[in-house]
Amino acid sequence: ITCFAGRRVALFGLGGSGLATARALIAGGAQVEAYDDNATSRDRAAGEGIAVVDLAAADWSRFDSLILAPGVPLTHPAPHWTVEKAKAAGVEVIGDIELFFRQRAATEPAAPVVCITGTNGKSTTTALVAHVLRQAGRDVQMGGNIGTAVLALEPPSASRVHVIECSSYQIDLAPSLAPSVGIQMNLTPDHLDRHGTFEAYGAIKERLVSAADVAVIGVDDEPSKQMARRRAASGRKLVRISGEQPLDDGVFAGVTANAGTLETRIVQVLDGKPRIVANLAGIGSLRGSHNAQNAAAAFAACFALGLTAEQIAAGFASYPGLAHRMEEIGRIGRVVFINDSKATNADSTEKALTSFRDIFWILGGKAKEGGIESLRRYFPNIARAYLIGAASDLFAATFDDDGRVAYERSGTLEVALASAARDALAHPGQGDIAVLLSPACASFDQFPNFEVRGDAFRALAKALPGFRPAGT
Ligand code: ADP
Repeated sequence: ITCFAGRRVALFGLGGSGLATARALIAGGAQVEAYDDNATSRDRAAGEGIAVVDLAAADWSRFDSLILAPGVPLTHPAPHWTVEKAKAAGVEVIGDIELFFRQRAATEPAAPVVCITGTNGKSTTTALVAHVLRQAGRDVQMGGNIGTAVLALEPPSASRVHVIECSSYQIDLAPSLAPSVGIQMNLTPDHLDRHGTFEAYGAIKERLVSAADVAVIGVDDEPSKQMARRRAASGRKLVRISGEQPLDDGVFAGVTANAGTLETRIVQVLDGKPRIVANLAGIGSLRGSHNAQNAAAAFAACFALGLTAEQIAAGFASYPGLAHRMEEIGRIGRVVFINDSKATNADSTEKALTSFRDIFWILGGKAKEGGIESLRRYFPNIARAYLIGAASDLFAATFDDDGRVAYERSGTLEVALASAARDALAHPGQGDIAVLLSPACASFDQFPNFEVRGDAFRALAKALPGFRPAGT
């Protein structure tokens, strides 16, 4: 990145993307001084020749810019004071996405960029857009909040598309952000409970779509619907998307039951005329009503970039999914094995329980507040449940009180999977049967993290006789 050549830059945060930022700036001729709370990160950076200085004590008149790596919490005292002092000295405070867009401003014609934000579904939609574009033969770079830091990707160019997942934090630090296509999926309070803060959070996300040439906005929640209204009033290009309801203009996806299996159809409405443009039946990795919204968003974005409906549908059909998120790892006959280890709370597990009719459900671990009480309305979909980990007593109490779910205390994932597979294979009926790991719990009582838990599930399933991995 050359637009900072000769400039004096302070950088806070030397994790993966901080390092990528430092390297890109130094390669482009900037003078970088960096810091991180973590001594290992500091040493690693110093080892590559990056100047490491304590920015808390810095003289800000020496600097042009302060760059905050994603993940540096503004509320953390050290960066907080650093930011206040830098601002007071008139130093701009920005993030790596800002650097990317300044670099892109020098491309002519403008390099195509898709940016994705929202409370949920960002990673899935980002990965899906990138996959579909790649399948259609485009040169695609994907990164940001997912995978590779933007400054570690190939640079922007008119002949390639960047697909970038943006957290609200990254948007907030990117005043020049102006994507070709901006996607705002949805907006729910997430971790925020104060109304004022929630509004500020929404305003940040809205900036991503208001700065976009084409805005793709989900209308399944009230705050996002309002954003779509304001965009429509501006007269600039807007595509509404929904995973819940038919629209008179835009792209929606609806789930219907067909011969015991749930199907999702994507409908595009152009000039008031609806047409079915894709059917996700049989696309295991895009199951579930939440993925309907993700697929609708991906369709709208890829269509805006010039792909045909046929190209997009073909891309959906070969989408492999993201690991640990409703990941279909394979099957034995009608029994599909689903790794949803990323579902560490009841809200995430809810999506999985709406995606199948006959579920052999493995759950448990370190429970979150509220346990699985909010999931009672999906209990009729549960053929049998298998409890693991520390939450077993708590969840057994919910099942006992409810009275509709047959369950057993398996203790470990190993025992749970063996029992669930045996029971599922003996289950009568037609349509898919799911052996589902969707724990509604953190993993820390039995595993270092949700990835290790999901990998263990995959390895155990693969060892079952007759198991066929997905995609084979
Ligand atoms: P993010 O990157 O925004 O965290 P992911 O694509 O990684 O989102 O999905 C994380 C979880 O959020 C999924 O396992 C699913 O439970 C839920 N989810 C995914 N897409 C949506 C959506 N469009 N609306 C609501 N929840 C969703």
